[in-house]
Parts: sequence; structure tokens; C-alpha cells
Amino acid sequence: PPDPAHCPPRLEGEQAQVADELRNRVVEASFSITLLEGVTGSGKTEIYMEAIAACLEAGRQALVLLPEIALSAQWTGRFARRFGAEPALWHSDLGGRLRRVTWRAVADGTARVVVGARSALFLPFDRLGLIIVDEEHETAFKQEDGVTYHARDMAVVRARMSRAPVVLVSATPSLESLANVGAGRYRHLRLNARHGNATMPEVSTLDMRADPPERGLFLSPLLTGAINDAIGRGEQAMLFLNRRGYAPLTLCRTCGHRMQCPNCTAWLVEHRARHILTCHHCGYDEPIPQTCPKCADPDSLTPIGPGVERITEEARATFPDARILVMASDTLNGPAATAAAVERIARREIDLVIGTQIVAKGWHFPHLTLVGIVDADLGLGGGDLRASERTVQLLHQVAGRAGRAEAPGRVLLQSYVPDHPVMQALVSGDFESFMQQEAEQRRPGFWPPYGRLVALIVSADTPDAAELTARALGQDAPRLDGVQVLGPAPAPLAILRGRHRHRLLLRARRNIAVQPIVREWLSRVRPERGARIDVDIDPVSFL
Ligand SMILES: [Zn+2]
Ligand SMILES: [Zn+2]
Repeated sequence: PPDPAHCPPRLEGEQAQVADELRNRVVEASFSITLLEGVTGSGKTEIYMEAIAACLEAGRQALVLLPEIALSAQWTGRFARRFGAEPALWHSDLGGRLRRVTWRAVADGTARVVVGARSALFLPFDRLGLIIVDEEHETAFKQEDGVTYHARDMAVVRARMSRAPVVLVSATPSLESLANVGAGRYRHLRLNARHGNATMPEVSTLDMRADPPERGLFLSPLLTGAINDAIGRGEQAMLFLNRRGYAPLTLCRTCGHRMQCPNCTAWLVEHRARHILTCHHCGYDEPIPQTCPKCADPDSLTPIGPGVERITEEARATFPDARILVMASDTLNGPAATAAAVERIARREIDLVIGTQIVAKGWHFPHLTLVGIVDADLGLGGGDLRASERTVQLLHQVAGRAGRAEAPGRVLLQSYVPDHPVMQALVSGDFESFMQQEAEQRRPGFWPPYGRLVALIVSADTPDAAELTARALGQDAPRLDGVQVLGPAPAPLAILRGRHRHRLLLRARRNIAVQPIVREWLSRVRPERGARIDVDIDPVSFL
């Protein structure tokens, strides 16, 4: 079993203080919520492992939730070095036999530490003494299909039931958690310095209007120059673009036709390596046509904009001698392949990593000194309430991969809006002011976290059934103090998997219980034939 005395770290200064605080929470053995906020590379994992050590010493079980199960390999390795044994793993890909064995080991208390996905919250722990939610700001913690819940909130409920402390960990906490700190509901612990001699990476913007890439390319000369320099010094570089495939849009140059999904309001994304156009919403795919389906012109279809495949093509042409590795969720097949890729980077068999969101997770790449963000503006559009907050969190997380050891790190953001508050926050590293501004924008209108949202999504197999049902909901909307209903309006994804969609949004003051209001509202409205109403409480997606 994991041994708390196996290989304890030597902690000093603020690290030692924070570790002591966390240990005290565990020793108290009562319900508490602590937000552990630490800059990337500050040793958060190492420090919360001391809380796990205290939990083991007290003879209780600990549960650690990771946002991405692919991360578990690197995490498990660190855990084994600290405790001399591996933790139990829990996720949906676990085979049937292992599932039963793990379930029993958790129930009888022999599994002392469980690391896993959000479903691990429902395991029958015998003596749960600590829950840790790593990367608490990650929306991946919210289950998008089936039962809708935010794993962070569920972890808090679970901890309260078990009278155990819960620790929420992040370099860029959600505004929700910061508001809870402000209201005195959460304790707040901070790590302001990077571990050892590492310093925070220097972040700057590349103004794409002033220094554009060559025609048909997507990397500006300043960025390619910096990559060449880093590789020349024997260091590693990374390019980040949060978009899979080759190009997000295929357009006919002759007639202007755009290749669209037959089932969704969405463009088909070219995946050149697989010779297909595919829909990222419903999975529809078709071979890349040779002629335009509308005007039949041959060779007129043109890819517009870059995906990670196209950036890889450009990088191979620009850096012909570099050893390049692509990390994208559709090219890495499962946790084992991801672990192997991470291992190759650590062994310095790779000069340039090109990746999507998966590279943003908590990886430790000691030789990586340069990160280039191909399109820093990508997440800002779309009218999502949390677009700015999420972009800051994601890009800061990616930036945090740079310069985690001796050599200092550098981060370059390609942007057409370098003056945007998001870019300014990333450059200055002053997230506190940024989050305060976010808070001030949301507070007056009672937007989350100062109010609550419930999304009602009406979908139907005919446009009429969807619209009539949505209109009926709008007409019968609750009229209560502190409650407002926005919509109905066609959803941004107006058609998804062949179903026509409309949305309504209920916004309520924080102290109002929304579930009974919604239940009563739905009881008064009869959906049209073939129509369905889905309820999403505290939505994270507005599509
Ligand atoms: Zn055409
Ligand atoms: Zn589709």
C-alpha cells in the first residue's frame, strides 16, 4: 500500500506553510473547502500529496479527481515516487473485472488512494478522509450528456456527506470559486512562486496585423524565428492550436459553396490524413470531393483557416530537420499512447510539439522553453458568458508548460487584438485584476456566479414543432421577482443531429431555488409531437 513515509519532499517557505495548512484540514477530519491557487510550476501536486500523506497516516482514504484521464499516467508516476506504490485508478475505460475488484477494494478500505474521473465520486468509500479536485476550473468536469452536474460541486456535496475536507486546485481558479472565497465560504491558500529556480515564463503578443505570416501560411516570421532559435539551442518548442483537423471550412472558389454537415448547422472540418470531411458535432463524415457538389467545378474546393494538421504541414516545411510530434485527442489513442508521447518529449527525442487542448493539461516538460499560441483569439467569439475567462485559463495553462526547469520560458501569442483585456492579462500575469473586471461585468446583471442560469433546450424533428414548443415555453415563462427569462431564440447550433433547436435561458438571483420554478414551468407546457425539452442547470455550453 502507499506509504506516507516512503519519500517525503523537502519543502520550504510558502510551500511548507501551505502543505501544513492542508495537513491540518485533514487532521481536523471535518468538512471544509479550500481553494489552492498556485502559479503553474509552483509544485501544487507535490504539496497536495502531503495532504494525502496526512490522510493515509490517519487511516482514511483519499480521492483525487483529474479532468483528463490521459493525465493519470504521469500523475501515477509522481505518486509512486512519493508513496512507493501506485494508487487505484477509476475511469470509464476500466475493464469489467478490474472495475469489480476496484469497487470492492474501495468499499472494504484496502484501496487507500483512488485517482480517477468524476464518476469516482460515486464509489462506496469506507472511510473517505479527503477529496482533491485538480484543475477545478476545467469545464470537462461537467458531464455534458446524461445527468448534468458539475463534478466540482458534486465533490463538495460528497465531502460534506463524509465530513471530509475538499481541496480545489488550480492555477487559474474559476470566477465561481473566487466568488466563494470572497463570500467567506472557501478558504484560500496561495503559492506565488515557481518551484526551485524556475521563473514564470515571459509572455508577449505578436500583433498579426503588424507582422503577418506569408500568404497562405499561419505562423508569423517572428514566431518561426523564435522556434528556430530555441531548437538551435537544443531546447524544445511547442505550438498550440485548439482545433483538430486540417481546416475548419472548405469553400468553392468558383461559386462560393461551403461544405456543410447535412445534419447540423456546422461546417464540415477537413481531416486530410483520413481523406474525409467530418462534422465535429455529430460525427458525420464523407470523402473529400474532387469537384464542387454545387457547380461541379473540378479543383475549386479550398481549405480555409488552419487546424492542427495544417499547422503541422507548415511546420514540417518550415523546420525540415526538426523532430515533430503531434498531440491531439484524435491522433493519440488513449492514455497509454499519451503517456508514450509524453515520455518521448521528456527523453528529448522531440524538438517541436504541436498540439490541441490536450497539451494544456498539467504536463511537466522540463526542456520546453518556448510556447507559440497560433491563434490566441480563437476562443473569444461565440457569445459565451465565460469566453474571456476560459480563454485566459486555457492559454495560461498552455503557457505554463514553458520554462518549468532551469532555462527560462517564453510564450508568444499570435493575435489580431493584442489590446484585448484577455491578452493584456496573459502578458502582465495579473489575473486578479482581470478576474475582478470579469466579476464587475457579471455582478450587476446577476450573471453567474452572482446569479444562477438554467438553459432550456427545445429540440424537435421538424422546425415547426421546435418553434411552437419554444414559443409556448416563452408565453408560459414564470413571472417572479428576481427571475428573468431570455428567449426563446434559435440555438447557435440551430440544427444538431437532424433536430431543430431553440433555447431559453432563465436567470435568477443566487438565493432563489431554481429547480422548483423550472419544474412548475415545465408542468404547464405540453411539448408538440416529436419535440423534447432538455434542462441544463448551470450551463457551461450555450450552443
Ligand atoms: Zn462551386
Ligand atoms: Zn453534424
